[in-house]
Amino acid sequence: MPISEIFGINTFNRAAMQRYLPAETCSKLIETIENGSRLDMSIAAEVAQGMKEWAMDRGATHFCHWFQPQTGLSAEKHDAFIAFDSRGNPIEKFSGGQLIQSEPDASSFPSGGMRSTFEARGYTAWDPSSPALLLEGPNGKTLAIPSAFIGYYGEALDLKTPLLKSMESVSKYALAILKLLGNTTARRVVSMTGPEQEYFLIDRAFYALRPDLIMSGRTLQGAKPPKGQELEDHYFGTIKPRILAFMQEAEYELFKLGIPCKTRHNEVAPGQYELAPIFEVSHIAADHNQLISGTLRRVARRHDLAFIIHEKPFAGVNGSGKHVNWSLQDSDKNNLLEPGNTPQANLQFLVFLMSVLKAVHKRAGIIRASVASAGNDHRLGANEAPPAIMSIFLGEQLDHILNSIEKGSKNHDSTEKRLLSLGISALPAVSRDYTDRNRTSPFAFTGNKFEFRAVGSAFSISSPLAILNTAVAEALDDLGTRIRDGLKDGAPIDRVVMDVVRAAILETKLIRFEGNNYSQEWVQEAERRGLPNLRTTPEALTYWNHEDEKQFLDRYKVFSVQEAESRYHIEVERYIKAVEIEVETLRDMVHTMILPAAHRYQAQLGSSINGLSALQGKEASQALAYAQKNACDLASHVAALYQKMESLVETKAEAATVMDLPKKASLFATEIVPALTSIRNTADWLEETLPDDLWPLPKYREVLFVK
Ligand code: ADP
Ligand code: MG
Repeated sequence: MPISEIFGINTFNRAAMQRYLPAETCSKLIETIENGSRLDMSIAAEVAQGMKEWAMDRGATHFCHWFQPQTGLSAEKHDAFIAFDSRGNPIEKFSGGQLIQSEPDASSFPSGGMRSTFEARGYTAWDPSSPALLLEGPNGKTLAIPSAFIGYYGEALDLKTPLLKSMESVSKYALAILKLLGNTTARRVVSMTGPEQEYFLIDRAFYALRPDLIMSGRTLQGAKPPKGQELEDHYFGTIKPRILAFMQEAEYELFKLGIPCKTRHNEVAPGQYELAPIFEVSHIAADHNQLISGTLRRVARRHDLAFIIHEKPFAGVNGSGKHVNWSLQDSDKNNLLEPGNTPQANLQFLVFLMSVLKAVHKRAGIIRASVASAGNDHRLGANEAPPAIMSIFLGEQLDHILNSIEKGSKNHDSTEKRLLSLGISALPAVSRDYTDRNRTSPFAFTGNKFEFRAVGSAFSISSPLAILNTAVAEALDDLGTRIRDGLKDGAPIDRVVMDVVRAAILETKLIRFEGNNYSQEWVQEAERRGLPNLRTTPEALTYWNHEDEKQFLDRYKVFSVQEAESRYHIEVERYIKAVEIEVETLRDMVHTMILPAAHRYQAQLGSSINGLSALQGKEASQALAYAQKNACDLASHVAALYQKMESLVETKAEAATVMDLPKKASLFATEIVPALTSIRNTADWLEETLPDDLWPLPKYREVLFVK
């Protein structure tokens, strides 16, 4: 069946609205969706009625508010449509009130301390800008209402609310710039996002035998197989039939949900894959990204595969990221980061380009914080993913153009002439195909959009997008103010804008880096430039708590000071919990699986040594010497493993007594995470030494290569 025929059939899309809603209600709802205008709540009852009929016609029995608490996952609480009429007969009911609002138990979701000061109630509120959808279960469907999750006083308890607010903010300041530049038709600007999702798939049987994968999402032990990704034979290779069957089934489900899956391919590491949808308005892309990971996980089970979304599930091979492609688009569907055909259009392009450079320059710390997690710490800077240092790659051509503008003389006329002769008017040549690729950059310009590559595979993209949008809103605010100030002297707009652009180029030079971000030289160079290198999550997260950052987020009405502080607490606690789970899981594996296996081998070796000692002759004594050496090596590693584990447990117990949250988190980063790696090294030695039949865990060669 052609995709176009099933696309979106499980969403309450325009066609469904037209069919199930009265005409006036339908156009009000569409107006809200398309222009972000406030919804006239008096239509809620009719919308609810229409949605219910549509959903029931397709076999739905239940409804739920579908939202994104600060766990990074999505949440849903199902209610049946069932109700009773006045005579006690069962009927199906779904009211306007039930559509607009629901009250889950907020106390069970992370709130970062906000619940103790406020009432413990939280509400989910219908977000009409994202279409309602049908979640298919094995025995029926559920009508899911995309919602925001807020506290009693309107404080955001979810990841979506700040994203929606950041969309407002960036629209406001972008629109102001467009107006200054003479645009009379645009009514709104939205950020657009195309997130490329990387993930691993392994056979479920192996997954079931690895406590570390089950509990912490990554392997805490596992020696590198003789063959990893060195042969580069996986990337873009033929997709194995079992995997393809999974992908096709998952995509079929996603198409029905109106998610425009476009690209699928094998990724660099064995067992690693990618799915990229076509870009959409950021908050829809964020909803869709949540649905994508949920659907991949569910469909993987049907194929006896385990879907692994951790940023670094297997040491020694590449980890997974989520490349977040980002641009701004006006309501006339113009991409504001598209280099134009005329000098005038290029002026606009340059202003918006500079807004991103300014945003990343000024807010590198909080942008880094928005992608900080225990999982992503293993990936960023691991010579396969960008380092924790934020910088922007523009490509040779654009870099050259900015350098030329920067050097432009004070004489405006000649500057402008020079700009033209430099080929600014021929900027379309900076199209995607001509931009050189720098895969090492955390933030790269790719022709008409930026690609934010530091986002982790397991992340909700909502927070990184909210921060990025807000930082760009701030930069646009600043650029707009400067342009307005410049115009006061009566100078022509082009000249004023070029002056503002030139000043911004000078101010943001330090954030630009065209070289290899993986190199050690860059780390040193970045230090010379004074760019923050926030290596670990606890370091990065402190930015949520910086006075300047809190004021900035509050000023642009995206996070109140209190909300920012609560994010800080939630993220720090999440980090600590993630590492604690790893410690407990590894301890369990070491004591109940790895050490017992090592002791079994010691016993075997012991009896071999006894046997050999009873033999005469040179060969026997040679063999005896080898076996004895083996036994000694084994004993020293076993002892080391006991000792390292004991000291880790002690360190963790000490850390547990530290009350100061930042201090505690930093102890985890500096003491506990390295200790986990050290234990892993010893355990990996044992894996490579013990007889295969005694080793209690599936090995990488099985997990990653058997499909
Ligand atoms: P790659 O980066 O692998 O070469 P593409 O450049 O084709 O792949 O696109 C990667 C992602 O970027 C896709 O999700 C695509 O839809 C998205 N994308 C393309 N144009 C834009 C844009 N203007 N704004 C945001 N995302 C975009
Ligand atoms: Mg890409």
